[in-house]
Amino acid sequence: MSSLSIRYCKNCSKPFNYKVSPYCPKCIIAIDEAFEKCRNYLEKNRLATIKELSEETEVSEKIILLLLKEGRLSMEGNKELRCESCDKPIDSGRYCLECTVKKHNELSYVKSSLRPGDRSTSKTQGATGKERMHFIPKSKKKDEEEE
Ligand SMILES: [Zn+2]
Ligand SMILES: [Zn+2]
Repeated sequence: MSSLSIRYCKNCSKPFNYKVSPYCPKCIIAIDEAFEKCRNYLEKNRLATIKELSEETEVSEKIILLLLKEGRLSMEGNKELRCESCDKPIDSGRYCLECTVKKHNELSYVKSSLRPGDRSTSKTQGATGKERMHFIPKSKKKDEEEE
């Protein structure tokens, strides 16, 4: 019986039975513990670098970066984490504020000017059926309005 879906843990690469997280149950616990440790340390040392944090908490830099990318941790003192778009140093997440805003704008632009078949919309899931909009003509009676 194999309705189980086996994934490889994003952290330790061991196969495990996938449920919701990209990490195996062991790593989920380990990462949670690491997160707690890092958060505690950062509360007292706001400007710690990743290196310091790693040394003080014995959490590997890999996991710290992972927590930063997921936006769970945010470090003012880190220089390692960079915006994936413009390479500017950032505190947390994957993009700097500017790029986040830019991306958001691009996205809503794509959505509002969605013309299927016109211009292949980049990698961002553009023209999936979900996104298609139904325009209700304004001349219709008000009580027929739908979202
Ligand atoms: Zn794992
Ligand atoms: Zn950026």
